[in-house]
Parts: sequence; structure tokens; C-alpha cells
Amino acid sequence: MSAPSILAYLKFPARSESVGSFPTLRCDHCRKELGHYVHRYWRMRFCSSACMTAYQQRLAETTKTKIRRLDLMVN
Ligand SMILES: [Zn+2]
Repeated sequence: MSAPSILAYLKFPARSESVGSFPTLRCDHCRKELGHYVHRYWRMRFCSSACMTAYQQRLAETTKTKIRRLDLMVN
């Protein structure tokens, strides 16, 4: 009677680093390891609302620059 080890492995593929149902995630702005309180924006995750805001501002700046360029091309 040997245990079906492969089946057990398939059942728990991320066994070594399972922290609840989450693998180790990092903040998409400051790369800090995320705790249990995660701020989400689109597919990104942030450790705090400050990081999320900073990321959104950076994104807005990039978008603004792109729109400005498009405006220049159109006019
Ligand atoms: Zn952060």
C-alpha cells in the first residue's frame, strides 16, 4: 500500500509557499512584500493607497504625454 505521491503533489502544487491562498506578492510600485491588506487597481497590487496613488499619477503623466503627442500629430 504505497501512497499516491504524484496525486498528492498535483493536489497541492504550491505547497512550499502557500500562505493562505496567496503566493508571495509584491507591491507594483515599491516592490515591498504585500501583507494581508492589498490595494488593487486593474491587475496591479499595492501595499498602500499611497503607492496606488503614486502609480496612478505616474500612469496619468504617461497618458497625458501620449495624448499631447497625438494632438501634435493630428493638428
Ligand atoms: Zn508599495
